[in-house]
Amino acid sequence: MIDVDRLKAQIDCRDLIKRDLGKPKYHNATYSSFKCPLHHEEKGFSLVVYADHWHCFGKCNRGGNAIDWLQTYHQLSFRDACQNLASGNLPQVQQSSPKAKTKRQALSKPPDEDWQKAARDVAYLAMNTLWGKEGKAAWRYLQEERGLTEKTIVEAGLGYIPGHYREWKDLLGLKVPCGISLPWMTHHTIWGIKVRRSAGQQRYQQVSGGNIKGSLYLADEIQPGLPILLTEGEFDALIARQVGSGLISAAALGSAANTCIDPRWFPKFISAPSILICMDDDQAGQRAAKQLSKLSLAATGIQVPQGKDINEFYKRAGLHAVRRWLKERASIPT
Ligand SMILES: [Zn+2]
Repeated sequence: MIDVDRLKAQIDCRDLIKRDLGKPKYHNATYSSFKCPLHHEEKGFSLVVYADHWHCFGKCNRGGNAIDWLQTYHQLSFRDACQNLASGNLPQVQQSSPKAKTKRQALSKPPDEDWQKAARDVAYLAMNTLWGKEGKAAWRYLQEERGLTEKTIVEAGLGYIPGHYREWKDLLGLKVPCGISLPWMTHHTIWGIKVRRSAGQQRYQQVSGGNIKGSLYLADEIQPGLPILLTEGEFDALIARQVGSGLISAAALGSAANTCIDPRWFPKFISAPSILICMDDDQAGQRAAKQLSKLSLAATGIQVPQGKDINEFYKRAGLHAVRRWLKERASIPT
């Protein structure tokens, strides 16, 4: 009889999987990451392997222990997998697993070039408006209510589309809601434009045709080696980045409903010493934090000490308190 639990405890999944897939793309003391062969991953490295289990954070979302790996990758029965592991007589290394027919996952893609060109023009138009007379109230709001500096506003490319909060404008062929515009840009790519309206039940709307879900706000500015603070709202990420400069990188999901981070961004997370998930202190936020902590062992959910989000905390306690808090959180090992 094979003692399955003992067997599982003896095997380091990282060694087992490395044998099949070669050198990992990233590794540290706790995990290694590979291109996931189970969904024929092309660009990312979503298969994250720990000593006692493995998990694909990409399309196939499969995972398990050492026995599961042999069953999945080598199509062994449970019994054979156990016997193979116990005897050390492991299956031949395959270059690719022909029987593992899972659908290929395409990484998220930004909207097409035409859309991006129009969206960029809309964003510039809005930026110019924010700097002009029509943008005065919006400018004041950004500085006084959100605590953003001119530098942050400029770097983030924030803008203003004048009009009634319910109104949508037709600009360059796009349907554009009125309010403060927050473009979602990475490198030279524009993924979407979020607009914060001044009133109404649904405060945030998007310029039609964008793909914010496939992106991550400020993902481009994640610096290797720094802890990542992941927030729900864009403004929270902006204030955190402004206040926590040099201490943390900040990025935003855009909404608590948007917890499935596209594998495109995983490499950013894998190299971070810790991932601090700071969602709003409500049910949706809690759920999001729970889902995201599956992303990495280095992920932990945190809460602001005052208010419901970083923005409120900043408004109540001020710059120094927020910086102190970020410094403290960033230095706690996970
Ligand atoms: Zn996979």
